[in-house]
Order: sequence, then C-alpha cells, then structure tokens
Amino acid sequence: MAQAVEAQGTLRVPFHRPSIGEEEIAAVVACLRSGWLTSGHRVQEFEQHFAAYIGAAHAVAVNSCTAAMHLALLAAGIGSGDEVITSPYTFVGTCEAIHYTGARPVFADIDPVTGNIDVAAAEAAITPRTRAALPVHLGGYPCDMVRLQQLASAHDLVLIDDAAHALESRAANGKIGTLGRATCFSFYATKNITTGEGGMLTCADAGLAERARVLRLHGLSRDAWKRYSAAGAWFYDVIEHGFKYNLTDLAAAIGIEQLKKADALHRRRATIAARYTEAFAGIPGLTPPATPVAGTHAWHLYLLQLDHPRLRRNALIDELRERRVQCSVHFIPLHLMTYFRQRYGFRGGELPQAEALYQRVVSLPIFPAMTDGDVDYVIAAVQEIVARYHL
Ligand SMILES: *Cc1c(COP(=O)(O)O)cnc(C)c1O
Repeated sequence: MAQAVEAQGTLRVPFHRPSIGEEEIAAVVACLRSGWLTSGHRVQEFEQHFAAYIGAAHAVAVNSCTAAMHLALLAAGIGSGDEVITSPYTFVGTCEAIHYTGARPVFADIDPVTGNIDVAAAEAAITPRTRAALPVHLGGYPCDMVRLQQLASAHDLVLIDDAAHALESRAANGKIGTLGRATCFSFYATKNITTGEGGMLTCADAGLAERARVLRLHGLSRDAWKRYSAAGAWFYDVIEHGFKYNLTDLAAAIGIEQLKKADALHRRRATIAARYTEAFAGIPGLTPPATPVAGTHAWHLYLLQLDHPRLRRNALIDELRERRVQCSVHFIPLHLMTYFRQRYGFRGGELPQAEALYQRVVSLPIFPAMTDGDVDYVIAAVQEIVARYHL
C-alpha cells in the first residue's frame, strides 16, 4: 500500500492527497526548534487529546496501527497456540499483527453489503482454541458491535477492533474506540488523519494501557523521555520482551493539529460520499455503498460496487485512468496472498463473499481537498463510461 508515487501532475484527480495546512507545518518547525524530536510531551499531549476525542479512558501512541494491534493482542495475553478470528477483507497489517504474536489467524467470511465480518460466520469459526476476535470497520462502516460484544462475552473472547478507517465512526451502541477491549487506529499517510506513519491504541483498562506502554519501548520500566528530562533518572530496567514501537514528537506534533481538524475533514468526506451516492443511485450496474441504519460512517473509503456481469471492474479502472482519475481496490482478500497461503494453508474459494466483493468493487477518490469540480469530474467520468455499456 505504498503511497501513489505516480507523477500526480498527469492526473486530474489523484486517489488521495493529504490535508496538511500551515498549522501542521508550523507545529513540526516548532518541534524541530525545541530540540526534542522523539517521544516526549507532544506524544503525551496527543494521547490526551485523542482519548478525549474518542471518549476513551486511555490512549497509547505507537508508530503504526499494525503495532497497536500487535501490542493489544499481546497485552490481552494472546500468543502461540491461540486462534484469532478476523476478516480476510482488510489490509495485510491486521493479519500480520496476529501472526506476530504466534497465534493463528482464522478468517470468517464477510457480509456482502457492508464488507464487514459476518458475525454468524465468525461464530461458526470458533474452536476450543479461539481466544480473540479482531473485526475491521471497513471503509469506516461500523461493525455490528452489539452482536460482536455478545459473541465475545458468550465465548469468552477478547474483542479488539481494527479502526484504521474508523476514527469518526459510531456504532449503534457507542463510539468506535470505546467498545472493544482495545481499539487500534492508523495515522498512515492516506488515513482519516495522518502523522505520516503512526497509530494509537485506546482502551478502558489501565492495566492493558500500562502493559502496552512498556511493550512499545523495549520493555523498559519507564518511558525513555523521562530518562533525559530534568525530573528523570538515568536508571532503567528491561522488564519484558518489548518492541521499538514508540511514536516521535515530530509525528505527534502533526497529529495534534490533524486531530483538531478531524470533524471538519470528516464532514467534507461525508458530503462527497453523499454527492457520489446521489449521482450513482439510479444507474443500472452500480450499487453505491450502504450507509449504517444506526451509527456514523467515517467515509474513509467510497466502495462502489459493480453489479452487472458486462461491467468489469478492471476495465472501469482503466477507463477512469484514461480520463486521469486514479482509483484503487480495497481489498485483495488476505487468504489469497502467497505467504499466508503457504504459512496457514488457506485456499482460494473458501471465502466466497470476500472473493466476490473483491471482484466487483472499486474505490473512488474521496479526500477532503477534492473540490466540488473534482467530484463532478469523477461523477461525469463514471456516468459516461457506464452509459456506453447500455446496461
Ligand atoms: C492502513 C490499515 C492498517 C495498517 O495501518 P498502519 O498504520 O499502516 O500499520 C490496518 N488495517 C487496515 C484496515 C488498514 O487500512
């Protein structure tokens, strides 16, 4: 998922462009001038603001969402011999975090409408070794957290959610970030808010948060920044097998400014999604993404589904490309990836809903810096291309 490196000058509408303003630039410059670059008081401030934004008791900053999921699983006691049920319809990091712990990823098929894990399929995948469930809020559409919480408590599973797309999402029973044992967010370059690379874990459990804080910095007994601050001591101890997962103050400086804009950026994406859906709703061959009956969609992605056999996804992407509109595909199901097949014996054909959605879905550009003209351009391009098929 490398950022589009293609010369953006040749594109009329790129797939994504981050919304970085003068505030972020000034904050980074101030951080550079301060002389304190790595984890310090800016990380603490970002954590406090993030916890308040989500309404979570604790927020622990790390350098990626993958790291946050790895630490959440470890801090919840997941390890080798365990099975973790997750969605195949996600980015590699979700499965990789399970793999890192030594536990076995077990995929449950998805709901074809939302692309989120099918709770009945998740229940059917439970074995005596199942210890956790790691659902993904695809594109920002909240998972059914009521049923997932019921499933977790009925089978004594740890519920950890991948909220890489879901910063602003709300499920029927509350804000995403407050409903799992731990929730993991991403600040990768294309995400709802960005720090370039970065991640956050939120949770209600002080013990889990403390364990994640120790694990994120080499298993050291105290945060490194305190070692160098006036109040700190030179002494430290290694109290367990840790990792180098801390977020820098440079990244946190960007994150503090981005978080202030999160709601405005979300409103703009929601407006773009509404314009797309209004334009595509009546067109044969196109199924706009579902909107939650109860709750809030974060609109990280706009997943347009193609529902006519003659309308081919790859051809549509190529034709949009000719009109200088860059699209993407979310996601190539993980059980089809060479390494996971070799390592865990997954086979094509075993998760038909995930495979079918992958074949018929295209992600259109949806980023706050798109102008109304950009949105109209994408709409007209899709309409023109589809009209030529006479569906
Ligand atoms: C981006 C993404 C991740 C990984 O986030 P990083 O911060 O890059 O580790 C995990 N899950 C999903 C669904 C993602 O889109």
